[in-house]
Amino acid sequence: GGLAEGVIRRAEDLSDTLTSPFTEARLRLGVTGLARAGKTVFITSLVANLMDRGRMGQVEAIREGRIETAFLQPQPDDTVPRFDFERHLAALTGPTPHWPESTSSVSELRLSLKIRPKGFWATVSGPRILHLDIIDYPGEWLLDLALLDKDYADWSADVMARLPARSEAAAFLDAAARADGAAAHDEPLAQGLAAAFTDYLRAARKAGYYDCTPGRFLLPGDLAGSPALTFAPLPAGSSPRGSLAREMARRFEAYKTRVVRPFFQEHFSRIDRQIVLVDSLSALHAGPAAVEDLRRAMGDILTAFRPGRNGVLSQILRGKRVEKILFAATKADHLHHQQHPQMTALIEALTREARDRAQFSGAETAALSLAALRATTEEMRSHHGSDLPCVRGTLLDTGKAAAFYPGALPRDPSEVLVPARNGEGAWLDGDYQSMAFAPQPLTLRPGDGPPHIRLDRATEFLIGDRL
Ligand code: GDP
Repeated sequence: GGLAEGVIRRAEDLSDTLTSPFTEARLRLGVTGLARAGKTVFITSLVANLMDRGRMGQVEAIREGRIETAFLQPQPDDTVPRFDFERHLAALTGPTPHWPESTSSVSELRLSLKIRPKGFWATVSGPRILHLDIIDYPGEWLLDLALLDKDYADWSADVMARLPARSEAAAFLDAAARADGAAAHDEPLAQGLAAAFTDYLRAARKAGYYDCTPGRFLLPGDLAGSPALTFAPLPAGSSPRGSLAREMARRFEAYKTRVVRPFFQEHFSRIDRQIVLVDSLSALHAGPAAVEDLRRAMGDILTAFRPGRNGVLSQILRGKRVEKILFAATKADHLHHQQHPQMTALIEALTREARDRAQFSGAETAALSLAALRATTEEMRSHHGSDLPCVRGTLLDTGKAAAFYPGALPRDPSEVLVPARNGEGAWLDGDYQSMAFAPQPLTLRPGDGPPHIRLDRATEFLIGDRL
């Protein structure tokens, strides 16, 4: 969709258009990532820095001083919760800064930018308005895409095959083995199974597994307790009318049509640009199995951006495509900049397959490492005669300042992508565990946004061509 397509001249905007001399265009930027990847902090810092513009030197339009104003406006979608920018910013920049509450559902924010055109055009035309609609949604919801072309029996068989190898699933497997799917449906039993399955998903997620679908079981929002979220896989067997297994299958279908499909239809299908945030350092710290799992989850997430492969999705998208996708490894401020090239190499390796696929479908992709809100400063410390690249920050629990060396990163990312060659937890086994930093109190000069690492480069890639 080029500029022409984005130009809004809807009838209801006519009065606006008549009173304002500007052409208006809209761009929808999706922000996703698995839980705790850093979506909320990213959006808050992005908006704050676009409004202040002091620290965004890598954004060409800002460097050239062409953005005249940036202001928040009522969003276009009346039924989507608004991203609570002011509250999140207050958490991060107040007198005792703390991290904001994380994403648990979809939300939206409209930032409007008044932009002077480039070079020659500035002499012949006035400023224009770009409405940047930022859509925040959990990456877990994208993983649900894989459910759309499965029926309950396939899905159950897949999940039940995976579980015996995982100790987190023991209690659920026990309950499932005792349940008789062919017996008459019994609501307390169904609820017990769904609860045990949800407990397993939570434990699996904590242990570093990412294939934790159905995604809404972990982030139910206002669907908590509804029948569409009260099902679980069962061992294969018959499912006569009125049976537990038959009811489970019915609810699985309801989940697909009432929960998964509407998300793709109403939100996902309208995204123009996408950033996928990845907490690769935590996965690395958790060990090779978690890294391998993350790599697979990235591949699965990316199938959503390659609709050709998925019949149901291409039906929903009807030819609409995401134009650019950025994969960003977050929380780069946990590492001294000396280690950033390795961090970036890792996110590149982790998403290579996914990016190749996206390129195949026409989207432009890139990978980088960033910190949406820098909570540390760098320092070198000598240790047994050699210099260790450390970062210093304020500890979340004690409020004390301390410097840490998080540990080594793989020199060659393929080392971690072949789990068999490594012992568990071979990377980031230094102080990484203890590095829970609080945001720093900010001493901002007028026009400064919150400090960050490469947030401006990410912005340039995602929207620079439209500024
Ligand atoms: P979400 O679940 O994707 O919305 O994740 P959040 O944005 O809430 O971030 C989860 C947590 O990651 C935060 O509470 C912080 O502890 C940490 N975090 C996120 N971004 C940064 C960052 O740029 N630097 C640091 N040091 N920590 C971050």
